[in-house]
Amino acid sequence: MHELGIVFYIVKDVKQVAEENHVEHVSSVVMDIGEVSTVVPHLLTDCWRWAADKEDILRGCEMKVNTIPAVTLCGDCNKEYETVKFGKTCPYCNSKNTWLLRGNEVEINSIIVFVVPLAQAVVTSAIRKSNEKNNRSDHSAFARHLPALEKMLWGGSVMLVVDHVINGELTWRFPFFTALENAGGGAVMLREMLTVGVPMSLVITAVWAVYALAKERKKKVQLT
Ligand SMILES: [Zn+2]
Repeated sequence: MHELGIVFYIVKDVKQVAEENHVEHVSSVVMDIGEVSTVVPHLLTDCWRWAADKEDILRGCEMKVNTIPAVTLCGDCNKEYETVKFGKTCPYCNSKNTWLLRGNEVEINSIIVFVVPLAQAVVTSAIRKSNEKNNRSDHSAFARHLPALEKMLWGGSVMLVVDHVINGELTWRFPFFTALENAGGGAVMLREMLTVGVPMSLVITAVWAVYALAKERKKKVQLT
């Protein structure tokens, strides 16, 4: 059962990069698993559940598996065909001069981190609720527009999920050991993905500030 070994590498790398970037929690990891990769998806997700729940940063973090269909290319007739159905012999010309194009991958497709804007959304909601509770009539302009910021942040949290779906940036290809040499490059990509969260939150806040100011200006114009 080599799935457990793979899971340990995934846990180690995701955890390390997340900690380096002060990410408190990773929500989900999406794997691309090739049809002929020898990795059994349900064993991988079972091992993941067991191993991830031992880490605070990955507790409850879901692993999703995309199955990548295996495709073989024929070197003689240059056609592609389904590997699982026809094996090494080309169904078009019977040539055995064929090679696997894809279907052997064990890769992290994406990791989903939406804790940064989400945390801010929670704080903003708390401020708004506290304001409502106090029933303050002297709301500042920004306080009045907090609900808008809140909506944008929650929206941003969802957007971040989409933003993190990028393909094949972090790869462990078999054989495992040669693949590990590439882990450094993958970690750089992962770091970029993780750090999107913080700028994203800042951008959303900036957009909201402009929105709030524009609304205030409009209101003043209407009053005069
Ligand atoms: Zn052929």
